[in-house]
Amino acid sequence: MMRQVAIYGKGGIGKSTTTQNLISAMAEDGKKIMLVGCDPKADSTRLLLGGKMQVTVLDTLRKYGTDAVDLDVVRHAGFRGIKCIESGGPEPGVGCAGRGVITAIKLLEELGAYSDDLDFTFYDVLGDVVCGGFAMPIREGYAKEIYIVASGELMALYAANNICKGIVKFAQTGGARLGGIICNSRKVDNELVLLESFAKRLGSQMIMFVPRDNIVQRAEINKKTVIEHESKCEQADVYRQLAQSIINNEKFVVPEPMEMDELENMMMEFGILDD
Ligand code: ADP
Ligand code: MG
Repeated sequence: MMRQVAIYGKGGIGKSTTTQNLISAMAEDGKKIMLVGCDPKADSTRLLLGGKMQVTVLDTLRKYGTDAVDLDVVRHAGFRGIKCIESGGPEPGVGCAGRGVITAIKLLEELGAYSDDLDFTFYDVLGDVVCGGFAMPIREGYAKEIYIVASGELMALYAANNICKGIVKFAQTGGARLGGIICNSRKVDNELVLLESFAKRLGSQMIMFVPRDNIVQRAEINKKTVIEHESKCEQADVYRQLAQSIINNEKFVVPEPMEMDELENMMMEFGILDD
């Protein structure tokens, strides 16, 4: 059975970087993977494709119409055969960006992109779940497993908590469950314990602590993941551990989100906000 996994988190938190590294580690391990970028920026697959900007599903639709959208046009093999797709978005300033995700996924389904040989499909989804379009992978029951990328910064936790509210909303109809919080460190004081407490309070777990390391930027400048560019470094091993933790994960919950003041109190407790 193919597992469908969505990665959520606030913009710039490191979703695309973390996702591409962890699925590269899975691919090294022989897993067959498809990655669907659900961000109008369309940069979710770039490190897997050596920096090549991919034609998006929505671009192709707009330019050539539905008949022209063929899997060969919008799906490209990246690192270790990972199947890369970008949903794309509307032209800037026109329409809801989230609609693109819905259109793209429905079309991929019609075209038979969800083939039986896949072990995993990953969705790299922008921002908070607040807008309906971006909730689509979980609302419509595609992704049953969700991981949230966060750090010890208030806005990252605020977004993570909001995403949990979205998961609760669609837990009944779509069946989505939270699999864990991935801490992508911003070197905030007491970040590890804060994230552990935060995840536990939600009824979930911090599934991995990913250190902040310049090696990530170095790989990015070379248009590669750390896994491909510096395969033997410690950071690569962190992504491999994260991959294994997700493969073996059995803790899936409907999270219990917090009110804003409880979240702020939690941060004060860990000495992050001044009181
Ligand atoms: P998102 O997809 O959530 O918008 P990105 O994955 O594009 O975020 O990451 C934003 C920036 O942060 C990128 O330039 C990336 O290289 C950097 N980054 C992400 N994770 C790390 C890390 N663990 N250490 C250092 N830099 C990181
Ligand atoms: Mg991204």
